[in-house]
Amino acid sequence: MTERCDVVVVGAGPAGLAAARAAASHGAEVALIDMQANAGGQVWRRDVRRPWPDPARDRLDALLDGDRVRWLGQAQVIAAGPGRVLVEQAGIAYELEYGALVLATGARELLLPFPRWTLPGVTGVGGLQALVKQGWPIAGKRVLIAGSGPLLLAAADTARRHGARVVAICEQAPAAQLRAFAGQLWRWPGKLAQAAALRARLLGAPYRADTWVAAAHGDGRVAEVELHGARGVERVGVDHLAVGYGLVPNLELAQQLGCELQAHGAHASVRVDADLRTNVAGVYAAGEACGIGGRDCALVEGAMAGHAAAGAPEAARALRPQRQRARAFAALLPEHFALRAQIADAATADSVVCRCEDVRLGELDAHADWRAAKLATRCGMGSCQGRICGAALAQLRGAAFAPSAGAGARPPVFPVPLAALAASAVSLHEAPPLAASAPITHSAPQGTVP
Ligand SMILES: Cc1cc2nc3c(=O)[nH]c(=O)nc-3n(C[C@H](O)[C@H](O)[C@H](O)COP(=O)(O)OP(=O)(O)OC[C@H]3O[C@@H](n4cnc5c(N)ncnc54)[C@H](O)[C@@H]3O)c2cc1C
Repeated sequence: MTERCDVVVVGAGPAGLAAARAAASHGAEVALIDMQANAGGQVWRRDVRRPWPDPARDRLDALLDGDRVRWLGQAQVIAAGPGRVLVEQAGIAYELEYGALVLATGARELLLPFPRWTLPGVTGVGGLQALVKQGWPIAGKRVLIAGSGPLLLAAADTARRHGARVVAICEQAPAAQLRAFAGQLWRWPGKLAQAAALRARLLGAPYRADTWVAAAHGDGRVAEVELHGARGVERVGVDHLAVGYGLVPNLELAQQLGCELQAHGAHASVRVDADLRTNVAGVYAAGEACGIGGRDCALVEGAMAGHAAAGAPEAARALRPQRQRARAFAALLPEHFALRAQIADAATADSVVCRCEDVRLGELDAHADWRAAKLATRCGMGSCQGRICGAALAQLRGAAFAPSAGAGARPPVFPVPLAALAASAVSLHEAPPLAASAPITHSAPQGTVP
């Protein structure tokens, strides 16, 4: 089965929703695809215990009001190539041909290993937020949230609203850096208001700068967290520990297409021009995929990519000043929340790094890069396909261990039942061809607008 749309948008977070809306406003036929059941991406993930409407629902309803946008929920794009993508939905795989493609695939958390981080009761910060919104019981539990970046506050807020006792929010960045960050927020009044509202809702939850997790302890599940930092070493009793060190862009489809990437330290994002075009004809990228920028940045970039993809570059260009402002804010994040060396030092040779294949950090010592490590140890070859350990190793061992440094990600980018391919008579041999991996360039720092 092959169908065709003028514009295919992958991802229905803020960037994808804005892209679909902008493209449809020029009369384009749009397919909006997301692997989640509900639109909204990470920031507007549906909270099962809260009533509709939410910003994502409103936006999706408005989109579906006309007949130009097809919403494909619980559908994952498992391969992408020139002019077509391969979609798996409800056990059936089918091709969609596109005139233009917008990659609004978002980001995932950067999780770094420390002793016993795989104990039950330890999750990522965004992971905790997602679990809680999906109905996971947290009321009355002692929760410690640690790592780095603004997501710590958002996750603490969600946990508290669902009845958790937030025993501490531990930010690894030094207090002076945080003051410097806060001192700049007046330039973005909306962000300042958001931050102030969050802090007000979190009154009574201790916020500690200069503090990081060195280990988790517990017999069968986490019971204590060992914290290092400004107050020396201490142990805090918990029922749940959430740790996350910021976000890294999802690049697999961009890599398959041969899109050029740009490096930000050990990680990378899709390189786009001022109209959100990648170097591959007809392929655009927007939001976190182009570098971590947050919701407002994703919204404006999505709109720009949608306009441009529908052949209305003037409408896209009118939004450039907004994008510049949003990206200027984004540039503050790596500057003020840079990870201190002690975070990497917390991982010992015995720490599990690839939890799918049970590979420990010390087992990788003999290998020079990601590819060699994979071949010898099966690191990154489990069901998550290196999504977690690849980013962790890039951070701990440098860019040679970044999955983005190797050959383009192979199809399928997510596990898919063979029956799905068989049922639709599409095999991976017929999947869109794997483009040669484009080089990663190092010229533009994160957050700059080319
Ligand atoms: C776990 C997590 C929690 C977060 N929580 C917050 C928060 O509370 N507040 C906040 O301000 N920011 C939060 N963020 C930051 C968030 O990334 C941005 O603020 C915003 O959601 C970015 O929008 P986006 O559209 O670029 O990406 P996203 O919102 O991440 O949307 C990308 C979408 O693409 C879909 N997708 C990706 N690949 C495929 C594929 N191959 N096939 C089909 N669908 C695909 C994903 O399912 C996702 O819905 C969070 C980030 C993460 C990773």
